[in-house]
Parts: sequence; structure tokens; C-alpha cells
Amino acid sequence: MRNPQLTVSLTPLIADLHTRLSALGIIDNRALGALDAAGFTDVESLLLWYPRRYEDRRQFSGFPTGPCDEAVCLLARVEDCEIKHVGPQRRYFEATMMPLDPGPLDQPIGCRWFNMPYMSKVFAADQEVVLYGKPKWSGHRLVIDHPDYEIVEDGDSMEADIHLRRIVPVYRLKEGLPQKVIRSATFRVLDQLDPKTLPDLLRKPAEGSPFVGMSRYGAMRAIHFPDSIEERKLARDYLALEEFFGLQLNLLRRKNAYAAQSGMRHCGEGKLLAKFQELLPFALTKAQLRAIGEVRAGLESDTPMNRLLQGDVGSGKTFVAMAAALLVVEAGFQVAIMAPTQILAEQHYLVFQKHLEPLGIRLRLHTGSRKEDGNMPLFDGSNIGAEPQIIIGTHALLYDDSQLSNLGLAVIDEQHKFGVSQRSRLINKGVTPDVLVMTATPIPRTLTMTVYGDLEVSVLDELPAGRGKIVTAVRQEPDPKKVAAFLKQHLGEGRQAYMVYPLVEESEKLADVRAVTREFEEWSERLAPLKCGILHGRMSGDEKDAVMARFRSQEVKVLVSTTVIEVGVDVPNANIMIIYHADRFGLAQLHQLRGRIGRGEHDSYCVLVCDGKNPEAIEKLKVLEATRDGFRIAEADLRLRGPGELLGTAQSGVAGLRLGDLVADARLVKLSRDLASEVLEMDPTLDSPEYRHLRVLLDARSDGVELS
Ligand code: ADP
Ligand code: MG
Repeated sequence: MRNPQLTVSLTPLIADLHTRLSALGIIDNRALGALDAAGFTDVESLLLWYPRRYEDRRQFSGFPTGPCDEAVCLLARVEDCEIKHVGPQRRYFEATMMPLDPGPLDQPIGCRWFNMPYMSKVFAADQEVVLYGKPKWSGHRLVIDHPDYEIVEDGDSMEADIHLRRIVPVYRLKEGLPQKVIRSATFRVLDQLDPKTLPDLLRKPAEGSPFVGMSRYGAMRAIHFPDSIEERKLARDYLALEEFFGLQLNLLRRKNAYAAQSGMRHCGEGKLLAKFQELLPFALTKAQLRAIGEVRAGLESDTPMNRLLQGDVGSGKTFVAMAAALLVVEAGFQVAIMAPTQILAEQHYLVFQKHLEPLGIRLRLHTGSRKEDGNMPLFDGSNIGAEPQIIIGTHALLYDDSQLSNLGLAVIDEQHKFGVSQRSRLINKGVTPDVLVMTATPIPRTLTMTVYGDLEVSVLDELPAGRGKIVTAVRQEPDPKKVAAFLKQHLGEGRQAYMVYPLVEESEKLADVRAVTREFEEWSERLAPLKCGILHGRMSGDEKDAVMARFRSQEVKVLVSTTVIEVGVDVPNANIMIIYHADRFGLAQLHQLRGRIGRGEHDSYCVLVCDGKNPEAIEKLKVLEATRDGFRIAEADLRLRGPGELLGTAQSGVAGLRLGDLVADARLVKLSRDLASEVLEMDPTLDSPEYRHLRVLLDARSDGVELS
């Protein structure tokens, strides 16, 4: 039953969510000033500021007689106030609290505030207060340090009804805004709100749904002023579902819009593909074959393909891309392969060259930083003149219109470093090519649905056979002499190694570069006469190429580097990786790094070095000792760090979620997906009277997924 005090007003005043609070005439001027200063200017800003927690003030807890594990909510009377001195400099303020009607067993609780001398002006004897906090022993006395508090004022009975005898919302506070002011304003706004200002986004819940009887308006009231804990939870879920629904509707619309563009069939018969498979030194895995089949179906269809290829590091995504490229080339179209860094583009170029040039395919490497005047060490000049069939490059490809006149397929490698807007830039080049996005980030299913909800998904869930195993070990500050001996033994057998130091890729500071340079010099000395190379983000493209070339040719045995090697580097002969300050990396990133080894037939060794000061960090790193399964690691990472970290904030596309939690709400995400596709099936353009309001709302959304 609805709380009797929060009624549906008979003559609602508020008919527009953007009505300014100052125009309502139901909030006094002092409160308006405080709200305005905290950024609450219109009705909507208040409604969307959801409570952080709730206090059940229908029935206060009895006064505790001992410490409590959880915070309690008490109604009390101030018995006494005092500033207490502990030592010459330190003081604190203490207010002694008693129940309103003390019984014989009740004992006082001291509420203490340290370093807040002005608290003595807040409290006075005999005030009634609501307290929220965790009582504990201090000597023989029961105390609560820094409780949340609210002073109960008599007078206005509407005010008392708002703050007492109900489940009371507690808001995250912005500077200078008292809890009671925002609560009271929100209550008054809800009280005067015309239900029509909050039309339902979701269709009427079907019989049997937990949300039967829910409306957006009702949920909004209930999330602020619930009648019960259960009602609050339902309202929260309903509003979260609505948020996901908005996201999914946007994603699905984008997906449909892409599919509705006129596409072309970009698929040859497959003769080149058969030849390619014949020449490969290995058989493609079942997973690779399945993915190639799925891609092929996309290329053959005359609606544009927009597909995500998800596969753990080392699962062989590049070969799926090559197969796709061959099908497209055979049909007479060009293919663009885009990598996030120059090193990767050049490596792809080498791999493509090795496998595709024997088939007579014309390749071109295109990078942003250098011209094709012979300066590019890896560029094969013999192709100048002839139109390339496959162009490999970085993002720079997107900004060079002359290159992609006949584009049939765009392959985008390592999507998590590649923005959605860059992806659509390619699509908007006037043609509608098929798109294949490849990512090595094993994203749990619910996140895929949200982040890549506009893509079809293929998964490589199998590593090629014949790989040596990877032994991973967490070590605390190992002796460099022992490390050197270990390295020398394996390097002596012909292997190679990576030494990784954690520097922030995008903003490698000079101090970091100096640190890695010093490490490089020390390892060069320790390992002499074996050669070390250095790689960091401050080096020029040419310098990086030169080092990578020497590492690939095995002249350089040890690569001392920052995380620039993280993505995609493929040197199967390297089987050792030592990662310093491993605790500063996330698990997913460590997994990516480790994926650089274990690519050849030899067993590999990954050593995660940390200082051991933080037992939690060691616990975390041990996840990597236990498994090589990217999905399990991603899930552990997700639990430890949240989706933003895993995906990178720019990629998470979830800025619009105030309530929704992509991990905890997996069920709601799925449900929202179904609801969104139901609606779009009924009305793909959202033009009908029934759904037009959805389009208006979505078009106005600035907080949804990035659509450009
Ligand atoms: P990813 O890009 O998914 O990390 P790559 O395509 O770079 O993986 O392949 C990783 C390594 O595995 C490469 O050295 C490649 O030659 C090898 N490889 C790929 N597919 C197979 C296969 N089916 N059998 C054996 N080795 C393979
Ligand atoms: Mg790769």
C-alpha cells in the first residue's frame, strides 16, 4: 500500500520535467539557494538523483547495549555536549545520547566527532536526533564515531512526515546541501508531479512478470519513498531495466540501420582460400573453420556484415582475417586491415606477406607517420603502381580517402583500442563495406551484449594444438643474479625473452622512460655478451621497427620494454616473460601480456614479480598461476575492478547507467535486450503513435552509448 502521506495530487502542478525548481513555489528560498548551488535546478535533476541508501524510521531500533556489526538507526535525545581534550593539541566533540524515554537498562551512547570543532554549534541539550552508525566499545563506554545524524525539529507536520515514520531515503550529498533539504524538495516535487510527465518506456509488464503493476511514475516514487524494502528493490530493478532497455534499443537501432544500408556481396568462390589452406604449415582449428564459415555467410549476403571475432590471445584470429580477405579479394574488392599501433600493422604486414604473397596477392603497408618514398623499412617497393588488393595500416587509413576506393571488407584488429566512432568513420566513407572487428579481450557475455550489442559475434574458443605449456609463477623481489642465470640458461638454448616494466602507455613520462632505460642498461651488463633491446612509447616509429626487426631475427635476445608490446606481438621463439611490478597491472592486461609467450612448441615461463607488501595483490596474481583461460580471468578481473577498467572507460559505453550494473544485473540486461527487439520488430522506425515517444526520448538522450 502506498504511504498515505505521499498522495497523488488532485491538481498536479508539475507537467514538465524541465520546470525550474524556483518556479514551483513549493520550496522555500533558503532551500532553493542550497539546491541551486549543488546543481539541482530543475525537477528532473532531483528525480534522477537516486538515494544512496535508506533508513527504516518506521520503528527505531532499541538502544544497543553492546557493539553492533551493522549500522543501527536510533531516535535519541541529546543529554549533554562537551569538547574533550586528549593531549595538548587533540580535541574532539562528544554529544551524549539517551533514548527519548530511557528505561532502567538503557545506557548512554557517546557520539564523537574528531577535528570538527564546529559540531559544538550543531547540537544542544534536549534536541531530538536521528542517528545512524555503528556502536563500538571505547574503554567501558559505548560510542559511535562520526554517525550520520539529523536533528528533528518540531513544527511543520508535513516535514515531520517526510523525515520520520517511514523508510527514509538518504542521498549522496553535494557540498553544503543538507540531507533534509534535498529529501524534502524531492518529496514535494513527487507530491506535485503529474504522472504524465513520466510516461512508461517499457510496455505493460506481462502477467507473471515481477513488474506487474509497475509504471515509470510509480517506480520513481517508490525508489525515493518506498513503502517497503521489497517495493524499493522492485522499483530499482524496474528503473535499471529501463536504462538497459534504452541502451539496447539504441544498439539494436544502430544494428538495423547498418543492415538496412544497401550492401554488396563481397565473396569469391573460395579458390584462393583453398589454395591458402593447402599452403599453410598447419591445419586450421575447428573454431577457426567455424568462424571462417560465419564470416563467409556474412560476405555472401547482400546486407552489410558487422561481425565481432572474439578469441583469446594466440587463438589465431589473424588467420581468420586472412581467409576472409582472400574471399573478398577473389570477388574483386579491396580489403583494409587496421591495427591500433604501427608495430602491429607492420607485424600483420609481415605475416600477410609470408602467407599471401605466394598466392600472388598485392599488399601494401600504409602508416600515418611516414610517406611511401622508400623510407619505410618494411615496405616492398615492387608493388608501387599496381593497385593493392589488401592495405594494412593503422587508424591513419581512415583519414586517407584515396586508398579505399573499392573497399569490400574492413578488418579492425584489437577493438578495445579502437573507438566506436572510428569504426563508423570507416563505414561512412560512402561505401558500405563488410566489417570484421577482432578482439582479444574475453568479454563476459552480458558485457558483449551491451558493448558490442550492434555486432554479430563469432568466438574462437580453442587454441591451436602443439603449443608448449606456460608455467606462471608469482615471485617477490627475486635476486637479479638468479634471474640472470635463469635467463642465460634458456637463451643459451636459443630462446628469447621479454622483460616488462609497467609504464602507462599513453602518457609515458620521462621519468618512466629513464627508469626503463636504466633497467635496460643493467640487464645488458648482466647478460652480456647476449644482446638486449629496448622498446618504449617515446621512441619513434623507425626506432621501434628497427628493434622489433632485430628481435624477430633473433639478433636481440631480450626485449626490455614497457607495455607497448602488449597487443598482438607475435614472436613464437620468445618463451620467457618477466613482468616487474606486476601488481600494478590488471589481470586482463597481464593475461594479454602473457599471451606474447606460449606461442611456440617450447614450454614457456611467465614470472610475475611484485614487492610482496600487499597480500591481496599476491592473491590476485595467483589467479594467473591457476589458469590460462581468458574468460575466467576476465570474470575475476571484472569482480575485482568493475567493467570500466576492463573495457576502458571510452569503450564501456555505459555512461547512461545510474542504477544498472552490467555485471550484477545480467538477467535484466538479457531481458532488456528481448524487450527492445520485440519493440523494434513491431515498429522498426518507432514512428507509430504507440512508440513515437520512445524515439523522441532516445533522440534526446545524451547519455546513452556513443552513436556517432
Ligand atoms: P591472435 O591474433 O588470435 O592472438 P594469431 O593469429 O597471431 O593469434 O596466431 C597466434 C600464433 O598461432 C601464430 O604464431 C600463428 O602462426 C599460430 N597459429 C594460428 N593458427 C594456428 C593453427 N590452426 N595451428 C597452429 N598454429 C596456429
Ligand atoms: Mg592478433
